[in-house]
Amino acid sequence: MGKSVCVIAEFRGGDLRRVSYEVASEGKRIADALGSDLCAVALGSGIAEKAAELGRYGVKKVYIVDDPALENYLAESYVPIIADIIRQCDPAAVLLSASVDGKDLAARLSARLDVGLVQDCTEILVEDGKIRVKKPIFAGKCFAWNEWIEGAMPLISCRPNVMQCLTLSEDQRAEVERVDIPVPETRSRFKSMDLDTSGRVGLSGAEIIVSGGRGMKEAQNFAMLEDLAKLLGAAVGASRAAVDAGWRPHADQVGQTGKVVNPNVYIAVGISGAIQHLAGMGTSKYIVAINKDPDAPIFSKADYGITEDLFKFVPAFTEEVRKLKSTCS
Ligand SMILES: Cc1cc2nc3c(=O)[nH]c(=O)nc-3n(C[C@H](O)[C@H](O)[C@H](O)COP(=O)(O)OP(=O)(O)OC[C@H]3O[C@@H](n4cnc5c(N)ncnc54)[C@H](O)[C@@H]3O)c2cc1C
Repeated sequence: MGKSVCVIAEFRGGDLRRVSYEVASEGKRIADALGSDLCAVALGSGIAEKAAELGRYGVKKVYIVDDPALENYLAESYVPIIADIIRQCDPAAVLLSASVDGKDLAARLSARLDVGLVQDCTEILVEDGKIRVKKPIFAGKCFAWNEWIEGAMPLISCRPNVMQCLTLSEDQRAEVERVDIPVPETRSRFKSMDLDTSGRVGLSGAEIIVSGGRGMKEAQNFAMLEDLAKLLGAAVGASRAAVDAGWRPHADQVGQTGKVVNPNVYIAVGISGAIQHLAGMGTSKYIVAINKDPDAPIFSKADYGITEDLFKFVPAFTEEVRKLKSTCS
């Protein structure tokens, strides 16, 4: 059996993040194709039990460093420890999530280990024992395929919500090995994380997103989208035009200079479909566009297009969803 494939797991609040399951599932697929095992690295505080859950996704062994000082991601402490473990494991490839922390970690690991990194990949292939990865470039207008020269170790960050989670067995546990690496002294400290406590569904991990653009006309009209989103268990997003107009906060902006999202369903309401917007949502599984202009570019990307005045369509659609939900419950 060849060298292992290694995935780096992410914890938040003592729990494994969903992105870790996605990356582990993808790691397992690659390990199988290379005829190797899958191992993982996890850092955090009180994480041993949870780390073993990675076994469900095919991870055989998890190397953990469990220390209260590692409760939250801090580049200064995480990077040297993870780099040390990777050097010791000498894996065939390393995968992690292209989350905010994951991208930061990946770039630093690449420099420290002197290995080639491809960030934000949406597809990974193994052909004749070689790994090739696909990533969107030029704001998602085209894709680049990358591969590594002979003997180089691929370091790959995977775009969240793209790779499929494949549970092998609910009660399969990974072997957990505690690695004795001291947490380095750091000059920076983690102070706090301001999480959205409004109870709204967050954009980044949302399964469904209802997004509004300039066609919404004014801030108050977003209440219509909030209504629909609530019924669908969706998050509300916005185009830059809506954000620049002050109708929505920048945190809601989807696109090149906003968030990159990958929901199952993206409903674009009164959004024309500019390339910079598509860069943030073009890889959504299903795109629904509601626009009164039949020539709006969004329709060329949409799986379902509704050419209609949004002020007529959205309230009627919301009502139908409400009725459907009440008959189903
Ligand atoms: C460097 C750079 C970065 C950028 N980054 C981003 C980014 O991150 N995200 C982003 O979104 N944009 C970004 N943009 C801006 C982008 O180019 C577009 O200007 C913006 O996406 C347009 O937003 P919109 O589709 O809401 O508005 P518009 O293009 O004005 O489209 C409004 C749409 O609403 C429709 N409409 C109007 N009234 C109704 C109605 N009653 N019923 C139904 N439909 C209606 C119209 O037909 C039209 O298609 C960026 C631009 C640059 C230069």
